[in-house]
Amino acid sequence: MTDNGNWETVIGLEVHAQLSTETKIFCGCKTKFGAPPNSQVCPVCLGMPGVLPVFNQECLNYAIKVGLAMNCNIASNSRFARKNYFYPDLPKGYQISQFEEPICEGGKISVETDDGAKTIGITRIHLEEDAGKSLHDKSKSDTKVDLNRCGVPLIEIVSEPDIRSPEDAYKYLVKLKQILRYLDVSDCNMEEGSLRCDANVSIMKKGSKEFGTKTELKNMNSFRGVEKALNAEIKRQIALVESGGEVIQSTNLWNEKTGEIVPMRSKEQSDDYRYFPEPDLVPFTIEENYIGNIRNELPELPEERNKRFMNDFGLSATHAGALTASRRTADYYEELAELSNDPKNAASWVMGHVNRVLNEQEIEIEEFSITPKRLVQLMDKVSTGAVSISAARIVFDEMVSDSSEVDSLIERLGVEQVSDDSEIDKIVQGIIDSNPDESERYKNGETKLKGWFVGQVMKSSKGKANPQMVNEALDRLLEIES
Ligand code: ADP
Ligand code: ZN
Ligand code: MG
Repeated sequence: MTDNGNWETVIGLEVHAQLSTETKIFCGCKTKFGAPPNSQVCPVCLGMPGVLPVFNQECLNYAIKVGLAMNCNIASNSRFARKNYFYPDLPKGYQISQFEEPICEGGKISVETDDGAKTIGITRIHLEEDAGKSLHDKSKSDTKVDLNRCGVPLIEIVSEPDIRSPEDAYKYLVKLKQILRYLDVSDCNMEEGSLRCDANVSIMKKGSKEFGTKTELKNMNSFRGVEKALNAEIKRQIALVESGGEVIQSTNLWNEKTGEIVPMRSKEQSDDYRYFPEPDLVPFTIEENYIGNIRNELPELPEERNKRFMNDFGLSATHAGALTASRRTADYYEELAELSNDPKNAASWVMGHVNRVLNEQEIEIEEFSITPKRLVQLMDKVSTGAVSISAARIVFDEMVSDSSEVDSLIERLGVEQVSDDSEIDKIVQGIIDSNPDESERYKNGETKLKGWFVGQVMKSSKGKANPQMVNEALDRLLEIES
């Protein structure tokens, strides 16, 4: 943790997440990312005069899900508000958002930090529509506008100023993303802009109760970027105040390439959005039993699943944490643990070789070619002694791109383990006979030579001899001679 001398930092984050609904929030246009520019638009999301928005109820369901997972109160009465501003990628000249009466308020998220679990308050979660995109690098002479993103549903999750360090801000974001992914409400892809974070930060003297003036940071495109930008801004604020200056409430841009904070606007120039209730959409009520139905359909969340994995499968906190990092990883692991009836071994396969291939191929576990059903066949071959653990690795790598039967792969690769007593004895005896010097030294007490003998036997059997049986045979045959 960075030492900030006498200063304590206060951080609050505002996260926008694109909801992964099929269609937009107020019209039937598709939300799919990467479509040709301006191909997913209609009079409603283009803001033509005389059209009316229709609220997509799926967006409401998603927002309620998130609110419940983050322990919020779900409003019984909610409504939309118009946020007015002018920008080329906002054809209506306003954004439909929420101001008073957001859908969710007063929640919390628990975050594991170096100082133990910390609770970060969630001030509010509200729904809004996204704006379009200005593309500055498609043409030398002008800026292009793509309106496909207009009307794509967003939730904004605003945290309380409960975060005390950039590291904890990073961990909060990881946890928030994990929850959203478990809920299947957003793919949280920062590169595609489906997750965006604005960070607010201030400093105060250690032990002070009164927060300092905050500044806002924008334009970070990764969680590590948020952490870095916060560190840079805290440094800037401390240097400023220590040299007799004063922090001015402002919005600043993070430049990832230079690691610099670039001033964007001060509070005096800040936007006046002139919010007012959205006249084209009626206020709505959310019934208790409507919320109850959604609550019943919530999946098991990361914390509960983590605990269950530790209890049911005897995993350490670290392993359980790694295996519940994503819902699909947890699903994969759980299936493998149950099919193999060997949860510890299943854990080392998933965290070891499976993860290795996922990293190599840069894919997610749901795209992985070896299903738990097939992997367990290979695990069985190891436990019955048909192949050694190192041979299993070779077979595994073959299985990644070859869907043949495990048995035929083992045969084709010629890696069946030799587990036949008499055959192993024969190889071991051969090695002893052809190395009389070493045998003599071993018998005279130089027992550390055993490893060397094992190595010779493995080499001579091309790695196929069952190592445990080789060890036993060596003990037996070298003993007899003495
Ligand atoms: P604004 O009126 O400028 O929008 P809000 O009170 O709505 O400010 O807070 C916006 C975000 O800033 C929230 O995430 C909140 O937790 C955070 N925040 C508020 N005050 C501070 C502060 N003094 N230092 C750091 N973050 C703060
Ligand atoms: Zn549309
Ligand atoms: Mg605010």
